[in-house]
Parts: sequence; structure tokens; C-alpha cells
Amino acid sequence: MPTAVQIRRTGGPEVLEAGDVEIGDPGPGELLVDVAAAGVNYIDTYQRGGIYKIDLPATLGMEGAGTVAAVGEGVSGFAVGDRVAWQGVLGGYAQRALIPASAAVPVPEGVSAETAAATMLQGITAHYLVRSTYEVQDGDTILLHAAAGGVGLLLTQLAKARGARVIGTVSTEEKAALAREAGVDEVIRYDQVDFAEEVRRLTGGEGVAAVYDGVGKSTFDGSLASVRVRGFLVLFGAASGPVPPFDPQRLNAAGSVYLTRPTSAHYVRTREELEWRTGELFEAVASGALKVRVGAKYPLAEAAKAHEDLQGRRTTGKVLLIP
Ligand code: NDP
Repeated sequence: MPTAVQIRRTGGPEVLEAGDVEIGDPGPGELLVDVAAAGVNYIDTYQRGGIYKIDLPATLGMEGAGTVAAVGEGVSGFAVGDRVAWQGVLGGYAQRALIPASAAVPVPEGVSAETAAATMLQGITAHYLVRSTYEVQDGDTILLHAAAGGVGLLLTQLAKARGARVIGTVSTEEKAALAREAGVDEVIRYDQVDFAEEVRRLTGGEGVAAVYDGVGKSTFDGSLASVRVRGFLVLFGAASGPVPPFDPQRLNAAGSVYLTRPTSAHYVRTREELEWRTGELFEAVASGALKVRVGAKYPLAEAAKAHEDLQGRRTTGKVLLIP
């Protein structure tokens, strides 16, 4: 059984190598964690492909959950045996990971390790997008792309809880059903119809208060055409590829639209912010108010297949590696 999945060079899924990787004792401020579940995220594919630069060789994986096996010098608040989850640092695709204690949070009772791993990165993203980037208001209509995806299913539920009407795009009937189940009010098959026209129709010509667009290249123009005057275009990812260079004058023509390209590191800048977001998420998960769907699980040795399926639009909800 491999102990970790590394890349030594950038490229396609084939550069993911499952093998044995030595891991040392935790240094000052670190936790050594026995990983129970590691999240697979789009950012892993950007790092693997070289769009986001990281030092190589590297063990990929930007989130996970497990049990503390050893505690480094100067760490307070965590002990051996504690159940923890983390996000935002590399090293998750492994049986054991060294994690800065500052990135870890306790996993409450009643929340499984798999659910915890599935809640961290995409949950924090959904939380900051609807609470801090554009704060969704009761009665708003919003547009969300890839509504049956990892971020999509969580963002839908958080926006509905704030009283929004959610218009969501998906590419298959199975995804449409999942999106509706999560609370999407109006599902658009953007593989079949012009979604911007449909959004205008559904909003009586007005457009939406905010578009949450993690698809990027293939949706950006339609997203801009879907925002209401003085609305927000929140471009938070590039699942279909990066958006080409953009003339700001287009924001004027679209109705004095606000465009932002947020990233999660800027929305968990302090320990307080991390605890606020994860605290609300875990409370909602534990109470049953927030449903976390794990759509697929793979062993470490099949990390390449997990990447292929995520990038091939074959997954829904969260994708996990189980070491
Ligand atoms: P998803 O589970 O949403 O998977 C991506 C989905 O995008 C696919 O399932 C597919 O849904 C849709 N899609 C549309 N066009 C394409 C295409 N050409 N190739 C692949 N997928 C396509 O992934 P995540 O929830 O992990 O991430 C969603 C987006 O959010 C990503 O862009 C990611 O980078 C971004 N993100 C940004 C963060 C931030 O802080 N800025 C943090 C976390 C994620 P369908 O088949 O329905 O079209």
C-alpha cells in the first residue's frame, strides 16, 4: 500500500505517483496526523498542471481529517488522539501528514472524519462567498454555476438558508436532480440552452444580485450578461479554463458591475475567521441543517483516476481519497 501521492514534475494526472514517502516528527508548531480522509480539490489539479506554482517534489492535497498522532513543540490546544480537520496546506494525500496546528480545527462529536474532510475547503469557500465576498440578502436572486459540484451543493444550501432564490446551472439530469435536492429553485442545463437568456427571463429582465462563477472561461461572458445593475460577478475558479484578459470598460456597459476574483486564503486570515467559518459549518452539519455529499471515494493509489473524474465532469459533491 502506498503511503503518499507525490508529484515530481507538473503535467497531467499521470504525474501523480503513489509510493512510499518518509515523514518525520512534527516540528515546532506542527501536528503529525493519521489521515482518515483527504479531500481532492480543483486547486490540486491546478498545482499538478503548473497553473499554480508549488515547490517540487510535493505531496499534493490541500485538506483532510484524521487523528493527532504526535504534537510538536509549542503547540497548545491539541493532544494525541484528538480528531482534527484542516485545509489550506499541502500534504493531505498521505497516510500521515505534518500540519501546522494553526491550520487545524477540532472535529466535533457526531461529525465523521470523512464528512469533516469534505466540509473544510469547499465549505469555507461557500461560507466566505455568501457571507463575505457578496453577502447574500434575504430575497436576492443569485446565479450559481456547477450547482451539483463540491462548492455548488454547499453554496446552494447556505444561500437558501439566507433566504435567496437560487438559479443553478448543471450539465446532466443526474446533477439537476441533486441541485434541486440541495435547494436550487431554477435549474438550467447550460449545456443545452443559453443560460444568460434564461436568467433574464427568470428575473423579468432584471438580472441577478450576484453570480458565483467557478467555471470561468466558458461561462464568464454569460455571467456578465446575467448580473443586474450594480450587481456582483464573483469569479472564484476556472474549471473550464482561465478567463482571457478583460477590458474593465465592460463592467460599465454591463451596469456598473463589481467584479472580484477571491481566494480562500484572504478570507481565513486570522484564527478567529477560521474558527468562525468552520464553527458555523460544523454546527450546521451536526444539526443536519447542512448536508455534505461525498460523491466519490478512491484509494490513494487511484489519485490519478480521481483527478481525471473531477476534471472530466464525472463527479458530484465531494471527492475524497481514503488512505
Ligand atoms: P466541482 O465539484 O464543482 O467540479 C467542477 C464542475 O465544474 C464540474 O463538475 C462541472 O459541472 C463544471 N464544469 C463546467 N465546465 C467544465 C469543464 N470544461 N471542465 C470541468 N468542469 C467543468 O469542483 P469544486 O467544487 O472543487 O470547485 C469548483 C470551482 O471552485 C473550481 O473552479 C475551483 O477552482 C473553485 N474553487 C475556488 C476556491 C477559491 O477560494 N477561490 C476554493 C475552492 C474551489 P457540470 O458538469 O455541472 O458543468
